[in-house]
Amino acid sequence: MKLLKDMILQKGKVIDDNILKVNSFINHQVDSKLMKEIGLEFANHFKNEEITKVFTIESSGIAPAVMTSYELDVPMIILKKETSSTLNNDIYQAKIKSFTKNKIYNLTLSKDYISSNDRILIIDDFLANGEAAKGAIKIIEDAGATVAGIGIVIEKSFQSGRAYLDNLGYNVYSLARIKSLKENNIEFVD
Ligand code: 5GP
Repeated sequence: MKLLKDMILQKGKVIDDNILKVNSFINHQVDSKLMKEIGLEFANHFKNEEITKVFTIESSGIAPAVMTSYELDVPMIILKKETSSTLNNDIYQAKIKSFTKNKIYNLTLSKDYISSNDRILIIDDFLANGEAAKGAIKIIEDAGATVAGIGIVIEKSFQSGRAYLDNLGYNVYSLARIKSLKENNIEFVD
């Protein structure tokens, strides 16, 4: 997506070879016009997948996910990051390790917001090693529902997440694919 790639080049900050900071338009200040375009792009790409719900992971996925759910005219559900596991029959949980914070979270979803008939589109801001996506997939599959697609705003293709999801056969669509962040230089896959 050209608009996104141009913004990454203009406003993204390379922190080290593995981390890109996009606080001025995605992660802290949010560019809502960009989010609207992202929502349209994901909705258009997944329009034939009979999506019934859009899921995202608290908190930076919320803006692109809500715009996508608006365009697809389906609800958006936030998977919460709890720091302790909760013994409760009314929820699904999956443990994930945060890439940026080096913390373990229990991704948590109330059983009220999923059923086995659901075809779910997972949206997230970044794909690194795929931990957040793996947790969301586990919760969806534990509920007997279907992962109908995974939409990623910024994929770091040099990390393991994309290959992992491709190998399992998931339908992954990333709007910007980064090949390398070496030497303070942002290089895209295509
Ligand atoms: P994963 O779970 O795929 O290993 O990492 C993805 C999650 O970690 C995303 O939800 C995002 O919050 C965070 N993340 C991973 N890499 C980056 C990065 O380079 N920059 C920022 N801002 N967040 C990242």
